Amino acid sequence: MTDREPSISSVEARAYTVPTDRPEADGTLVWDATTMVAVEVRAAGEVGTGWTYAPAAAARVVADLLAPVLVGHHSPLAPADAQAALVRAVRNAGRGGLVGMAISAVDIAVWDLGARLLGVPLTRWFGSAARPVPVYGSGGFTTYDDDQLAMELEGWVTRGLRAVKIKIGESWGTRGDRDLHRVELARSVVGDDVGLFVDANGAYDLGRARRVGRRLDELGVRWFEEPVSSEDLRGLALLRDTLDLDVAAGEYTHDLAYAQRMAPVVDCLQVDVTRCGGYTEWRRIAAAAAALGVDVSAHCAPYLTAPVAAATPGLRHLEWFHDQVRIVRELVDGYAAPIDGALRPADVPGHGLRLRGERAAEYRVG
Ligand SMILES: [Mg+2]
Repeated sequence: MTDREPSISSVEARAYTVPTDRPEADGTLVWDATTMVAVEVRAAGEVGTGWTYAPAAAARVVADLLAPVLVGHHSPLAPADAQAALVRAVRNAGRGGLVGMAISAVDIAVWDLGARLLGVPLTRWFGSAARPVPVYGSGGFTTYDDDQLAMELEGWVTRGLRAVKIKIGESWGTRGDRDLHRVELARSVVGDDVGLFVDANGAYDLGRARRVGRRLDELGVRWFEEPVSSEDLRGLALLRDTLDLDVAAGEYTHDLAYAQRMAPVVDCLQVDVTRCGGYTEWRRIAAAAAALGVDVSAHCAPYLTAPVAAATPGLRHLEWFHDQVRIVRELVDGYAAPIDGALRPADVPGHGLRLRGERAAEYRVG
């Protein structure tokens, strides 16, 4: 850091827990609330914002492990250097999971802060024009009855989204008949011109995934996400080579090395900017996937991801996830809903998003 560069003066993290609007579950988890851990980084009178969806303990990781590394030592005009220092500092704590989510939120905030200080939109700082980023509707929880599922799907299609994704693999893959019934229902609601995706969240064993996958092929489903556990790289590769539809995984990617193991066994690599190590790691992972000839799809956090997704060649689409869209509507200023099925990064400095402090305070935890 040179003497002329601004120095990061504070890094603060807070956790907010927002209840779901109705009970939610996928193939392998049930939940009734989502926690957002938001980070604000300050320098030279400006504020940068980032967040992740993680247990509230991630805020403590930011305060105890990450903030001391940056405050007074790093410039927001060199975000990749700051992120490298964070990664070095967590050697003993471990790089993945909760720590990776905390690093991601801080990295996003530092990039946002730097871009605001330079007065440029993030996409420009990443070297690209603000092209539209296609999004697909995502939700379709296994807890929904047929009417609720149909209503959500109709809402997305009415909005102009060109693809939708529902959860299958109910109760660890033991409700295969209901899974397929819901897929057939979804197809009848959205019609043949809208892409239909499914996500099993690792619920099936290999045999079940293959049998369900054959039926999904007949129904014209294009995307089978986590048909088996993401730990089962051999199973993912076998399904990718057996089925017509695209096999996708990668939402737990926490660094470049993980991505390099996952990318060769899927048709499309999913990356979550709020888990992988922030914008810094996203850009490395996207380059690695491109070198392997594998497209990238953004997992969740649509509004934070749009600026870097717009600057990513080989970006297929971005997940417009029910829970997180709802939380952003409630807690964040500066977002704009998709138009013609795509998000367009705002032409304002940084990513343009800010936490609504007073509103958010109602949901504060920890
Ligand atoms: Mg998923």
